Amino acid sequence: MASQFRTDESCLFCRIIAGEIPSDRVHEGERMIAFRDIAPKAPLHVLIVPRDHLPNAAATAAEDPALIGELIGCADTIARENGHEAYNLLFNTGEAAGQTIFHTHLHLLAGGKLTDLPV
Ligand code: AMP
Ligand code: ZN
Repeated sequence: MASQFRTDESCLFCRIIAGEIPSDRVHEGERMIAFRDIAPKAPLHVLIVPRDHLPNAAATAAEDPALIGELIGCADTIARENGHEAYNLLFNTGEAAGQTIFHTHLHLLAGGKLTDLPV
């Protein structure tokens, strides 16, 4: 059966989701997966990634706002499973804001102090 999700063969995260590129997965759900960031910026740095390929969080929110809520819920569960009640969540949107992979993903960062953030 064809996948119900959109994919882009040139997208790194679509290839990770498909299992073509290995990742250190911490969650696998029907609509999203989560894996450890390859270049962690905090002791716990996980990316929560919808299976459906869209370029950024706003595009996902416009089509399916509930999915954004599910990403946040998934991040909270992973943080708690790893012993963290405090954490930062981040959606980079646009190249000038540091987005490098144009497939929606939520950064979960925990266990450190993010002193570089302006807010
Ligand atoms: P962004 O800059 O918001 O687009 O985030 C992309 C993130 O993906 C960065 O934090 C990278 O370190 C991370 N990343 C890139 N390639 C991989 C990979 N193969 N496995 C896990 N994380 C990756
Ligand atoms: Zn993709």
